[in-house]
Amino acid sequence: MVHNVVFVLGPPGSGKGTICAKIQEDFNYIHLSAGDLLRAERQREGSEFGALIEGHITNGTIVPVEITCKLLENAMKAAGDVRGFLVDGFPRNQNNLEGWNAEMTGKVDEKFVLYLSCPVDICISRCLNRGQGRTDDNEESLKKRVVTYNSQTFPIIEHFEKSGQVREVKSERPVEEVYADVVKLFS
Ligand code: UDP
Ligand code: MG
Repeated sequence: MVHNVVFVLGPPGSGKGTICAKIQEDFNYIHLSAGDLLRAERQREGSEFGALIEGHITNGTIVPVEITCKLLENAMKAAGDVRGFLVDGFPRNQNNLEGWNAEMTGKVDEKFVLYLSCPVDICISRCLNRGQGRTDDNEESLKKRVVTYNSQTFPIIEHFEKSGQVREVKSERPVEEVYADVVKLFS
């Protein structure tokens, strides 16, 4: 079965998780947050990757694609028959993109990239105030995450942009306004 996939990218705190939850509710798309899958794997008893994942999350660096892609693929297999998947926070760098293409080409139909764009200073203050209890929502980790985003993830968005796959929605606005624009892309 070929799965429809929409990649959802944007800086930390741009609203990817919030918007994906709403799409999942209204359309038959399953939200797969790469970060959430990695956090679950970090917690899983017997996981051989716990310490490695923890190190990357704290430092704002990016887990090798073999781990992340496998978690995404397993989650897709487990979901069964749905309209598609929102792959949130992935691919984040060249390694992610190449590993995904090597493993998933032919298994997925990439519809478009939803790019939630938001000024970084606003993103950082959202993360510091969202109170999700994440170990990486502190000033030091956030600085590192933003450096990684600017140097590694933004170039991936530019890469997709060149092939006309990016749909940008400005996400500095209230959630309902952002979501109203997002809905048009899925209807
Ligand atoms: N992460 C990763 N690969 C991924 C997604 C996340 O290595 O494909 C790690 C990375 O260290 C990142 C952290 O998980 O900084 C948190 O990612 P998440 O997407 O949850 O953060 P967000 O960008 O949504 O705030
Ligand atoms: Mg997130």
